[in-house]
Amino acid sequence: MIYLDNAATTPVHPDVLQALVPYFVKNYGNPSGIYDIARTNKEAIEKARKIIADSLNASPEEIYFTSGGTEADNWAITGIIQKNKNKKHIITSKIEHHAILNTCIHLEKLGYPVSYINVNQNGIVDIDELKNAIRPDTALISIMSANNETGVLQPVEEIGNIAKERGICFHTDAVQAYMHQQIDVKKSHIDMLSASAHKFNAPKGTGFLYIRNGIDLEPFMHGGKQEAGQRAGTENVAGIVGMGKAVEIANRNQKKDTVYVRNMRDYLLYLLENEFPGIKLNGDRHKRLPGNININFPMHIDSSLPVLLDMEGVCVSGGSACTTGNTTGSHVLLAMGLDKQKASSALRITIGPQNTMEEMDMTFDKIKKCISILSY
Ligand code: PLP
Repeated sequence: MIYLDNAATTPVHPDVLQALVPYFVKNYGNPSGIYDIARTNKEAIEKARKIIADSLNASPEEIYFTSGGTEADNWAITGIIQKNKNKKHIITSKIEHHAILNTCIHLEKLGYPVSYINVNQNGIVDIDELKNAIRPDTALISIMSANNETGVLQPVEEIGNIAKERGICFHTDAVQAYMHQQIDVKKSHIDMLSASAHKFNAPKGTGFLYIRNGIDLEPFMHGGKQEAGQRAGTENVAGIVGMGKAVEIANRNQKKDTVYVRNMRDYLLYLLENEFPGIKLNGDRHKRLPGNININFPMHIDSSLPVLLDMEGVCVSGGSACTTGNTTGSHVLLAMGLDKQKASSALRITIGPQNTMEEMDMTFDKIKKCISILSY
């Protein structure tokens, strides 16, 4: 099997697994307890919090653990809206993940106005439109750091500056970008940031929301006093420890991994572009995550290419994992101006540091074989 769907999820790093296992079998105490195996767990959580805070140039008390990216996104948006009685308007983009889009659609039904900003053909948010959308009652701007389908990086620092100048809270969904790109929340004037552990070789079901000191959010979960009373529920100790370990490893390897992954991506893209003249790379060629290829082939190919590749042992996707089964076409590619046929037949290949150059050659051969079957 060749796994090239790293934007959907990533394998747990062996050292991460080793670090978290004791918290299931030996150190199983509830971190709120007073005895030794409980206190050690509390300490382990605080150690992970500090590692994560340092990775963002934030303070530990600004990191709140969640069950993943979806919860962090939901909390950021609903939490700020509930606290702002006079400001109801939200600005987001048309290419956000459904964790953001469906939260906004839900809030619209409750009477909160939402502006969905367009992107250009390279998949980058229209900054002028965003500036013009700002109203006196704008409570929040939420724009993702990197898109999950195209890997396109958004001008986060520029948006952060605009939000700061206008006194508006700025949230970024960094689920795809965190640990694959350097992020400094102070430099980019980010008020809230969502991240998810399973996108950087840690377990699923763990993530966090960074909330800048001074930002007042309504708690998402009500119950016990965990996470400074902001997010109730017994902590996922093993998940949090694993996430902290994964951040440590990714921090250490980020520069090396970026070059390695980008080289594999550029090599496979070169082979494909050479073989299929007229192939279209969706999204900005340079402002994108190092491991992302999102392409349309020049000939008419239907959406069964990923299925055929799966039969050949290659795991890729036709869009994002969360929109599998959607036949209307990718909302991201449609927003970039692709027609419905192209938007529903793109191929997303996302490469991670565990992949090899040999796998790129093998994938290329398998793609050639599948395309020849599909385009007969
Ligand atoms: N936001 C983005 C950009 C994502 O890519 C994803 C997952 O694919 C999420 C949010 C949801 O994160 P999680 O799977 O941790 O709920």
